[in-house]
Amino acid sequence: MTVFSHPEFDDHEHLSFFSDPETGLKAIVAIHNSSRGPALGGCRMFPYADDEAALRDVLRLSRGMTYKSALANLDLGGGKSVIIGDPHTQKSDALLEAMGRHVEGLGGQYIAAEDSGTSVADLKVIGRQTRHVAGIAEHIAFDGQPSNGDPSPTTAYGVFAGLKAAVKHKLGREDLTGLKVAVQGVGNVGYRLARHLKEAGAELWVYDIYRENMQRAVDELGAHPASADDILFLPVDVIAPCAMGAVLNDTSIPRLQASVIAGAANNLLQRPDHDQALKDRGILYAPDFAINAGGIIDVFYESTGASPEEVRAHVEGIGETLTEIFTRSDSTGTPTGVVANLLAEERFRKHDEASAQAY
Ligand code: NAD
Repeated sequence: MTVFSHPEFDDHEHLSFFSDPETGLKAIVAIHNSSRGPALGGCRMFPYADDEAALRDVLRLSRGMTYKSALANLDLGGGKSVIIGDPHTQKSDALLEAMGRHVEGLGGQYIAAEDSGTSVADLKVIGRQTRHVAGIAEHIAFDGQPSNGDPSPTTAYGVFAGLKAAVKHKLGREDLTGLKVAVQGVGNVGYRLARHLKEAGAELWVYDIYRENMQRAVDELGAHPASADDILFLPVDVIAPCAMGAVLNDTSIPRLQASVIAGAANNLLQRPDHDQALKDRGILYAPDFAINAGGIIDVFYESTGASPEEVRAHVEGIGETLTEIFTRSDSTGTPTGVVANLLAEERFRKHDEASAQAY
C-alpha cells in the first residue's frame, strides 16, 4: 500500500493508523489541512474490502472537509477517520472507547463527529475517552429551538438559503411564490427543505423510495407525488437532490429540464467534469459542498456558545458564497464546481500564508 505517492494523498499533513487487538479496532485518522483550525470530520465505520479501500476513502473524505469548511468560512481544518469493520456486528463500547483513546492521543488536532456507521450514541461512547468529539451536545440551534445535536435542520436551512441565491442569480427572482421545485428524497434534510419552500410559496414535487416519507410530504406540504423515473426530469425550475450522490451523470444530464440544481446530497456529480456538462446546457449547479455546509456550521457552533442569530447569519452566508461562485463562473466561463474548489483553496491557503508570516 502506497501512502505518500497515493493518488488521493494530496499533501495530507497527517495520517495515523491505529490497531487495538484486544477490541479489534483498526482505524485510520487523516488530517488534510489544519491551516484554518483543528480538523473536524466524521468518524465512519464501514466493512471496507481491504485496507487500501479504507485509505482511499479516508483521504478523499478528509480533503473534502478542508474544502467544505474553508468555503463555509469556518475556523476549522479538514479531517476524517474510518474504523474498518461492520457497524452491525463488530461495533462495541470497548472498540469505540479504544477509538476515543486514540483520538485523545492526537491532542485535539482531529475532532470526531458522527458519520455513516456511527451514531450520536456511539460518539458519546468515544467521548468517554476524549473531549475531542462534536455533534453530541444539546444546544440551541439557529432557529432558537433546542437541538439534540442533529445538524439536519441547519443543513436544510442552508440549502434553502443557497437555493434562493441560485434562483435569484439564474431566474432573477427573489419571490418564490409559484416556483416549481422537485425534491428527490424527503428525509431529514429534504423534508425540512420542502417545508421551507412550501412556506415561501413554492409548488412542490417529491419522490422518496421510503413510501411513508413521501406520503408525509404529500399530506403535510401538499406536494405532488412523483416517481423514481421522473423526479429529476420534470419540467420544473429547480431540482433539489436530497437523497444520494452521482445523480448528475452522462445519462441524466441530457434529460434535465430544470435550470437550477440545488440540493443537499453529497457528491452529486458522478465525475468532476459533469459540472462542465451542466454549464454547457445552461443549467446552474450549486456545488454540493458549498450548499450543504449548514451541518458543519451547526456542529462548529455547538461548542462556541454563539447566539442563534450568529449561527443563522453564518448559515445564510452560504447564499453569499454561492453568489460569489456563480458570478465568478459567469465572468470566467469556468464551471461552478471548479470555481468552488478554487475559492476554497484561496480561503485555506490565505490562512497558510498568514500562519507562515506569524513565525
Ligand atoms: P436521510 O437518510 O434522512 O434522508 C434521505 C432520504 O432519501 C430518505 O428518506 C430515503 O428514503 C431517501 N432515498 C434514498 N434513496 C433514494 C432514492 N434512490 N430516491 C429517492 N429517495 C431516496 O438523510 P439526510 O440526513 O436527509 O441526508 C440527505 C443527503 O444530504 C445525504 O446525501 C447526506 O449525505 C447529505 N447531507 C446531509 C447532511 C445532514 O446534516 N443531515 C449534511 C450534509 C449533507
